[in-house]
Amino acid sequence: MGLIEKMIKTYKADFWTREKIASVQKKRLTYLVNYAREKSPFYRDLYKDIPDDYILADLPTVSKPQLMEHFDQVITDRSISMKRIDDFTKNIDNIGRMIDDKYLIFKTSGSTGNPAVVLYDKGNIDVSSAVAAFRTFARKEDFRKFMKHGKKTAGVFADYGFYLACGMSRYLQLKMPHKKSKITVDVNAPEEEIISRLNDFQPAMLSGYPSNLALLADFEELNIHPDVVITGGELLTDEMRTKLTNKFGCYVQTHYSCTEGGEIACECEEKHLHINEDWVIVEPVDKEGNPVPYGAMSDKVLITNLSNHIQPFIRYELTDRVIVHNEKCKCGRNTLWLEIEGRTDDILEFAAGVHIAPMSLYKVLEEVKSIKRFQLIQRAIDKVELRMIADNKEEAYNQAKSDLQKFFMSKGLDVAILLSEELPQANKTSGKFKHIYKDFSI
Ligand SMILES: [Zn+2]
Repeated sequence: MGLIEKMIKTYKADFWTREKIASVQKKRLTYLVNYAREKSPFYRDLYKDIPDDYILADLPTVSKPQLMEHFDQVITDRSISMKRIDDFTKNIDNIGRMIDDKYLIFKTSGSTGNPAVVLYDKGNIDVSSAVAAFRTFARKEDFRKFMKHGKKTAGVFADYGFYLACGMSRYLQLKMPHKKSKITVDVNAPEEEIISRLNDFQPAMLSGYPSNLALLADFEELNIHPDVVITGGELLTDEMRTKLTNKFGCYVQTHYSCTEGGEIACECEEKHLHINEDWVIVEPVDKEGNPVPYGAMSDKVLITNLSNHIQPFIRYELTDRVIVHNEKCKCGRNTLWLEIEGRTDDILEFAAGVHIAPMSLYKVLEEVKSIKRFQLIQRAIDKVELRMIADNKEEAYNQAKSDLQKFFMSKGLDVAILLSEELPQANKTSGKFKHIYKDFSI
């Protein structure tokens, strides 16, 4: 099946009934499982006791450490090995180039443990393109404006390394070197440089991590008028959506994707994230891996990527907490849709096992009006470090300290709040900016 056929199938799927979706999923899953059993020694062994009339829930779940440890056996092409991938990825000029003219190589940022190495075959790349072509825009009017304004797209991402966004954009650029409608701006470049490149380019579509775009939105010098802002990579909160809408005066939307699962869900005009059920199966589960009913918050998610055959991800564990909904959406699509709570790894744990969501601390600090920008890092179970930019740093720190202490006391916690000399900054490896996170390494 080539790109055109994938395009047609993906386009048509928007109008499928629940029965049709189930039957296509079953067909594609059967093909994938048979393929994995035939070509991957790892899956052949894993599935050796699975009956012929299996259902999805009969298949054992798999995790990142497991798939990375047995990488060479998982891959369905015996000529590929981790050794060859390591050699290939040592040369950064290979970003966006295919190994053996067959597979693109991506690495995850590893912000939650060791990075994963993920191969995309041509089929998987075609599906990504098809989903991007038909499901990126939540509203038709934004798509029309975007087309009218020359499809100029600017992405503010980590413009280095084998990350999905960077690798995919270089792959497309190498394929169509004369196409000048797309730029990537390095998220870790100095702000003045990011702003001047965006101002010069005047994108019709701006994409990036929501926390990062929210930071850029604070700069009055940033003077662009995109038709749409599409965020990804982390949770887009209502506050950030409002802030970006006010700054850019256009529709702001998000999507849910990961390197292993591809494009998992795309937003509709009701701001619901519809699962791309034709190409990915999403199972919300509790800590023990038991299914969680519609409408309830899960502890984890199992994803099955139906379009990747070189490196099968079948019932692969993600640490995202989601609520899957089966209520019919006003937009008319029949697919299930979901809400994401954010990454569980980001939940902070303090003394006596008290858990605090980063968003709660974000909200406390957001209210300290004398702070222009902040970042809070948990350094120990009883210690946090505050990085900030403020006109009057001492005054801002005193206010923040008092508000945070009040908040911690309400949870029965005694937490030291230290002021850092450092400025708020993005993660050096992933390029993502997080307002609140945990780092016990120093
Ligand atoms: Zn909808």
